[in-house]
Amino acid sequence: MRHLIISDIHSNLTALDAVLEAAQGRWVKTACLGDLVGYGPDPNEAVNRVRALGALVIRGNHDKAVSGVTDPEDFNPVARATVLWTRQQLLPENLQYLQSLPRGPVPAGEFFLVHGSVHDEDEYVYSPAQALDGLLDAPAPLVFFGHTHFQGGFALREGEVQVLGFAPSGGKPYSTFSLEPDTAYLLNPGSVGQPRDGDVRAGFAIADLENRTVEFWRVPYDIEIVQARMARAGLPEPLILRLSYGR
Ligand code: ZN
Repeated sequence: MRHLIISDIHSNLTALDAVLEAAQGRWVKTACLGDLVGYGPDPNEAVNRVRALGALVIRGNHDKAVSGVTDPEDFNPVARATVLWTRQQLLPENLQYLQSLPRGPVPAGEFFLVHGSVHDEDEYVYSPAQALDGLLDAPAPLVFFGHTHFQGGFALREGEVQVLGFAPSGGKPYSTFSLEPDTAYLLNPGSVGQPRDGDVRAGFAIADLENRTVEFWRVPYDIEIVQARMARAGLPEPLILRLSYGR
């Protein structure tokens, strides 16, 4: 069965719709690794869209802060400002939905979902050293994670951690990665709504466990229209600008 894997949507409906259009007809189930909201201008629309997908969803740190599960005090001032703005915008039913999201790891058939790391939903996994514990203790050979907004991942094979990077090639909007036996994987589909890996395009993945492949996609979306909505909403300038740089 083919799974659409999305993460870190961050209230960016234009990016999410570009992803859903590109992935149309290519998946049976959707899994979402959290951070549906925060930063962007469309919190209710983004939550409604994910709910309509009937997706398996786990919570991210922004979902927790916005819905009051945690205090946004640990957030930097810019992020905290958008947490409070988002909380004001959200309909009660959507706040409740975010509050009810489970903490990873959560199984999705043959693989697992986490927001941050296998051991800590709020931990960032950027380096092989940070990935190693999770790879060793992974509840399944394949775990998808988000939180860093970097498309890529890590593989553990015969005691060695490999760093994986993906970029579309051959005129296709995706690259196809083959899963090897006897290997543990931590894979990040990238961020739908606020990529930070230098590629401004929305990132996502499609996993096909029957064929042991994962496609890593990048699709363009209308960034300026999102920036205009952010400006109208009075969201902080640095958050508006960073969409243009993918940082
Ligand atoms: Zn995020």
